[in-house]
Amino acid sequence: MHILVINCGSSSIKAAVVQSQSGEVAATLDVERLAPNDAAEALMSINGAEPSSVPADEHAGALEFALPKLIDALDDGVELQGVGHRVVHGGRRFDRPVFINDEVEQTIEELIPLAPLHNPANLAGIRAAKSLLGDIPHVAVFDTAFHRTLPNRAKAYAIPPEVAEEHQIERFGFHGVSHQYVAGKAAEYFRADVRDLRLITCHLGNGCSLAAVEYGRSIETSMGMTPLEGLVMGTRSGDIDPGAIINLLRQEGWDADRVDDLLNRESGLAGLSGVGNDMRDIEQRASEGDERCRMAIQVFAHRVRKYIGAYAAVMGGVDAVIFTGGIGQNSALMRHRISQRLEFLGARLDEDKNRAVSVGRQNPVASFSAEPSRCHLLAVATDEQHGIASQVSSLIMKRHCPTDTERTIPIAISARHVHLTQETVEQLFGEGHELTPYKPLSQPGQFASEEMVTLVGPKAEIERVRVLGPTRSNNQVEIARTDEFKLGIDAPVRGSGDVENTPGITLRGPEGEASLEKGLICALRHIHMTPEDAKAFGVNDGDFVEVAVRGGERDLTFGDVLIRVSPNYKLEMHLDTDEGNAAHLGRSAEGVLVSTEGEAAIQRRRTRFDSAAE
Ligand code: ADP
Repeated sequence: MHILVINCGSSSIKAAVVQSQSGEVAATLDVERLAPNDAAEALMSINGAEPSSVPADEHAGALEFALPKLIDALDDGVELQGVGHRVVHGGRRFDRPVFINDEVEQTIEELIPLAPLHNPANLAGIRAAKSLLGDIPHVAVFDTAFHRTLPNRAKAYAIPPEVAEEHQIERFGFHGVSHQYVAGKAAEYFRADVRDLRLITCHLGNGCSLAAVEYGRSIETSMGMTPLEGLVMGTRSGDIDPGAIINLLRQEGWDADRVDDLLNRESGLAGLSGVGNDMRDIEQRASEGDERCRMAIQVFAHRVRKYIGAYAAVMGGVDAVIFTGGIGQNSALMRHRISQRLEFLGARLDEDKNRAVSVGRQNPVASFSAEPSRCHLLAVATDEQHGIASQVSSLIMKRHCPTDTERTIPIAISARHVHLTQETVEQLFGEGHELTPYKPLSQPGQFASEEMVTLVGPKAEIERVRVLGPTRSNNQVEIARTDEFKLGIDAPVRGSGDVENTPGITLRGPEGEASLEKGLICALRHIHMTPEDAKAFGVNDGDFVEVAVRGGERDLTFGDVLIRVSPNYKLEMHLDTDEGNAAHLGRSAEGVLVSTEGEAAIQRRRTRFDSAAE
């Protein structure tokens, strides 16, 4: 599939038509020097030809002018099937690529405060390309998305959570497309599943970041809320004591713009070396004895090695350390400096192999560790355009699947609770008593009531168990497996309403006790949905499906999930507390349940189940 990949930087546009499987590039467009109010005119080049001027100084105008020329330059027979837009910041909202609609555009706009230079350019590119190529799907691929799997302890900075929440101060991480791509290439090289590997990916280009990719998911990364944190970069400082900045602001009278310039544009390799940000020049001068350049190299390598050690500790081991980006792929000296003292991880450098490394599209992976090494050292050619094109094409292909595999299912954890008949309500709470609604539940018409009862089992009692309303024609007590052990009664796993041949239990209320003959169950996990939802997911009432919970620290696939369809339902999966805890889910619906992606989809395992109606 041919995909047009568009990457609008703050003052440039890079676009390419890429074959999504092979990564082969059919045509390229480069526009530079886009800067409103700048006297110098913008220049564009198609397929690397001599640059020519562009009669526009901003992204939209430049794309309107240049895109038709790029498309004209395509060979006959190359047909565009989608457009992939690289978007720098997806905030908390985007953890995967998405088709761009008005709502997605608006969210990207709302995220501008998090990426003030990049998201506006990305958005301008999206809008211009959509108006020129309106009849093919446009997909946003986010630099931050791959890192949404970071556990909260890695995302959080140690500041009061109210402040973090209000100002969205958390670790987002960047370069996600590259980290994901090279991790995938390494897995291909090992002929292994990326879900079986612990990898440290080092993207060392102009911007630099590391990621700890544990079993296919990013669990730590060195860039933070912004791309300024972490490693030494071309012109960015990476880690610095925030106290130093406070001093500059307070004692030296600097303002935010001055600090911004210092840390983003005057620091890093350029600042340390004094000769610019190009590692080739710095290496050359260092070899000629330039002290500042030597220092720049040492600080750069030390920082990377420090992070590698930290990430090995975070994952408890490493199968491979991967070097990518202009420096990681091309600088044997830097790979040597960084990896020469990693033997304690089981990574032993083979200097001859390191010097011979040459990676590119044809030969994307080269190992430079000595055999045998417990931990491999790899150089991998990153290809973000190819990464974006393949993410876009798989999303487009999934769209043609009969089932809706992308849609997420909100999850609710049901704590133990009871449903009562009016007669039992009166036994427990007094004659003529009616349940008092305390708060509505997500399923229309259902509510948690003020009333609570005590469950009296042979072994122990459980107090303060909520009664749900409205009253029903049968009593039903829903508990989790842990409660069964505590009470000393075995409860069968049943669908709601299916209480024949279930054990009874005694309930105690403020006005009396009720000994139920039956009704104690462990609820069958289930999903409520409307007929429209069922159609979209390709399932029927009574089907049993599997649902995977993704993106947390304890991914889990639940089998034996019953589908319950009614026009009165709202889409929601219900689990009990034991199940929720097993998957590390929050108690409320804030956790999102994802149907098993792609190959697994929502898998129908059995069909038709005679579930008794509620
Ligand atoms: P970007 O992050 O802008 O995509 P790149 O990944 O192209 O940047 O990396 C640019 C960096 O790679 C520059 O510092 C450049 O000096 C460095 N680089 C490229 N080739 C070599 C090389 N042969 N030896 C050392 N450094 C190199």
